[in-house]
Amino acid sequence: MSVQSHIDKVLRNIQICSPGQEEFYQAAHEVLHSLVPLMEEDNRYDFHNILERLVVPERTIIFRVCWIDDNGKVQTNLGYRVQFNSAIGQYKGGLRFHPTVNLGIIKFLGFEQIFKNALTGLQIGGAKGGSNFDPKGKSDNEIMRFCQAFMSELFKHIGKTRDVPAGDIGVGAREIGYLFGEYKKLTGHFEGVITGKALNWGGSCARKEATGYGTVYFAENILAKYDDALKGKICTVSGSGNVAIYTIEKLYEMEAIPVTCSDSKGTIYHKTGIDVNSLKAIKEINHQSLEAYSQVHPDSIYTPVSHYSEGHHQTWSIPCDIAFPCATQNELNLEDAKILVANGCILVNEGANMPTTPEAVEYLKTNNVLFGPGKAANAGGVATSQLEMSQNASMENWTFDEVDIKLRQIMRNIFDTAYDTSKEFGVEGDLVTGANIAGFRKVADSMIDQGAV
Ligand code: GLU
Repeated sequence: MSVQSHIDKVLRNIQICSPGQEEFYQAAHEVLHSLVPLMEEDNRYDFHNILERLVVPERTIIFRVCWIDDNGKVQTNLGYRVQFNSAIGQYKGGLRFHPTVNLGIIKFLGFEQIFKNALTGLQIGGAKGGSNFDPKGKSDNEIMRFCQAFMSELFKHIGKTRDVPAGDIGVGAREIGYLFGEYKKLTGHFEGVITGKALNWGGSCARKEATGYGTVYFAENILAKYDDALKGKICTVSGSGNVAIYTIEKLYEMEAIPVTCSDSKGTIYHKTGIDVNSLKAIKEINHQSLEAYSQVHPDSIYTPVSHYSEGHHQTWSIPCDIAFPCATQNELNLEDAKILVANGCILVNEGANMPTTPEAVEYLKTNNVLFGPGKAANAGGVATSQLEMSQNASMENWTFDEVDIKLRQIMRNIFDTAYDTSKEFGVEGDLVTGANIAGFRKVADSMIDQGAV
């Protein structure tokens, strides 16, 4: 059987065995197709049926989460933990609390996490979890009770050398605190079982900033390869969570000008540059909608989602040199890509997981726009989580600068690995292929070493 028909067969099986899991299928389709040059060269992967094994999680845990709301009423949500692959280390990956969460979304994120974690060069396997619980509009007490209920089941499946969750969309410092507190109460262990902890109780400096900073470091490396730099570049950023805020902060340090941010209700365009302190106050402290930003900065423009032109995300219609999609999956589509190209964008660098649709990636590629794929460009978060685990294990505390220097070096290594691999397979500069092959090779070789388990 040719490599192509082998891949098609594996993908068909996903459709049959996991119907309706579109995002998972999309992620698997992208990775598997980019492996063709490697699979053609090395038939060991075929012999060991690595693709068939790789697309099936080692373990999928789905559980009921019952919690009591402020009116004393019992509420029920679904909880997930997909322990996808432990070939190179214990399971590692975030938890997402968002009403759109379902098994397909968690599987896509867990699948991406396998290769992302491998690319960091650190010993961490791939996992993801979460719930369809919506933290928006919930009181602090409701969030706490939900987190405690969620952990009352999850704790059975995690541990510092087994599976180490962290945050993702809807799971920030507050939720990590409540989850950790409940884990400690149930197990009696104070250990690095979760990352993204606060500094007072085992967290790492620069973990909060790491995904955003790392994304900018990755863009810095791409541009440097083409004798260019971030200085003076107009950047559009979507999102206003952890990733977007610290992408914006680091862009200023690199003398670029970030001009947008967005949330689920609308987009801010601030031509002179987003005021990162106002953004932090609105999102991190007051948990408000971005509309509040335009009240503080009357020279900025707020466009509510209802005013977006049909089929477009407002952020991508703002002219820019570089686009940083930092919100969520499939937020930058073909139509958006066309506008970016028409406006002269030179680089799309993914801060979120799979934010660019396959058609948009293809269009950007054919129009010579540089592209930093999320599993490489946003790997700084999980890499710094591993640095947190390292500090916990050795009972050390590194300074902000020590962690930041390591993060910058890791992002450089990830870029070099992806770039060099693209060159090795005759597609120099195609970082999607380079990242996928490099991540896959490390995991697949480890699976072969460890036998059929
Ligand atoms: N949720 C982040 C990611 O998508 C971080 C995961 C972690 O730190 O374990 O990579």
